Amino acid sequence: MYTALRLQQKLKQELGRGEAEITVVTPDPYMTYQPFLPEAAAGSISPRHVVVPLRRVLPHCRVVVGEVTAVDHAERSATLTTLATDEEGTGPRQLTYDELVLAPGSVSRTLPIPGLADHAIGFKTVEEAIGLRNHVIEQMDIASSTRDPAIRDAALTFVFVGGGYAGVEALGELEDMARYTTRYYHNVKPQDMRWILVEASDRILPEVGADMGRYTVSELRRRNIDVRLETRLESCADRIAVLSDGARFPTRTVVWTAGVKPHPLLAATDLPLNARGRLKCTPELTIDGVTHAWAAGDAAAVPDVTAGEPGKETAPNAQHAVRQAKVLGDNIVRSLRGEPLRPYSHTYVGSVASLGLHQGVAYVYGRKLQGYPAWFMHRAYHLSRVPTFNRKARVLAEWTLSGLFKREIVSLGSLEHPRAEFELAAGGKPSDESSGDPKGSS
Ligand SMILES: Cc1cc2nc3c(=O)[nH]c(=O)nc-3n(C[C@H](O)[C@H](O)[C@H](O)COP(=O)(O)OP(=O)(O)OC[C@H]3O[C@@H](n4cnc5c(N)ncnc54)[C@H](O)[C@@H]3O)c2cc1C
Repeated sequence: MYTALRLQQKLKQELGRGEAEITVVTPDPYMTYQPFLPEAAAGSISPRHVVVPLRRVLPHCRVVVGEVTAVDHAERSATLTTLATDEEGTGPRQLTYDELVLAPGSVSRTLPIPGLADHAIGFKTVEEAIGLRNHVIEQMDIASSTRDPAIRDAALTFVFVGGGYAGVEALGELEDMARYTTRYYHNVKPQDMRWILVEASDRILPEVGADMGRYTVSELRRRNIDVRLETRLESCADRIAVLSDGARFPTRTVVWTAGVKPHPLLAATDLPLNARGRLKCTPELTIDGVTHAWAAGDAAAVPDVTAGEPGKETAPNAQHAVRQAKVLGDNIVRSLRGEPLRPYSHTYVGSVASLGLHQGVAYVYGRKLQGYPAWFMHRAYHLSRVPTFNRKARVLAEWTLSGLFKREIVSLGSLEHPRAEFELAAGGKPSDESSGDPKGSS
């Protein structure tokens, strides 16, 4: 989105004269601002304000809702499926181009753990974040209404695997939301819930440095969150989370946030990949060894020219992705105009993370912050970063309103099954019953 936005600004005249055309292929007609997903899960921001509608911000681009399944760059051709090709049954179609920008991001890195594919949920999309929120509140309803202690314990046990940004922020925000929500239940108390964070290495949140990582562990433990370092999830079959330290927890919630891997689309191209499967790039954001192909973000292995050590690549995070996108847009325009390209250079400034309302941790420009100041910095930083003035205003309004009124504690899980009630009324059987499983499978 940022590259297309930049091209749209810089190629205004060419676009107007029909000399240039920008096509954006995207499975969803919106861009997701992922750093806001934990707050969306907590109900502090409504889901539609975490996303930016592409058709609105890219009025001079052709937005095609579909998925690129392969790229034959030698032929300058991408294979794509769209809702229409599925409907027509015509099979994938080809899209030819002059310049290619490949930025499909990353996907969750999973392991062949028994039960994982059946019972776990990721935390990368707005659907997952909202599905998880609904699921957590639904578990509290189940716990409140069951007379079976085993069902109650499993409903109130929440296991998060992976102590990076996504895992720690999602757990911090959801636990905070659930603890607040218990005040509206006559028989569910904060101490009845069990929140567990499982991390394979000996630290969490490496992005904020070792000291702040340690602070985060002690802060989460102070909140009664069971943080288990150097521990792995070995199985979650039969709804029992089995850990490498021998612990077993019956649970209906396993959230998998144990890292990302390059998008599988990259392997379906004739473009060069590095050992980790990311696109080999030059500092100018061209794909190494080919012409007219560009990449940025999580999918791109871009040399970090600020690191001073050869072979170091920029980390897969939003801080680099957004800045690379702008340089990439500018470089495409420079190449079209025969001007020299500029390298991407950005020194990592640090990170901020939220651990729930009024709680956070930050390491920015070598300064360490914790608690309220870090949380405030987290909000201020992301408000400044979320695209479009429209979104900034809406998010700010929501934060202001939630400061004045009480938090929303409603679960709208039935939104995921809108036809269920009608199907019952019409005498049929609901096709996809709400099962209390975050993935919707029973
Ligand atoms: C919960 C969470 C919190 C995070 N918090 C932070 C943070 O605080 N700070 C930070 O710096 N980073 C953070 N990150 C990481 C950051 O969001 C990513 O590094 C960043 O989004 C990468 O940008 P990208 O453009 O490469 O990929 P993405 O943002 O993932 O965009 C890729 C796009 O390509 C589309 N796509 C995928 N496949 C296809 C296909 N086959 N055809 C067409 N289009 C396709 C996708 O739908 C998507 O829209 C967080 C990530 C998560 C999940």
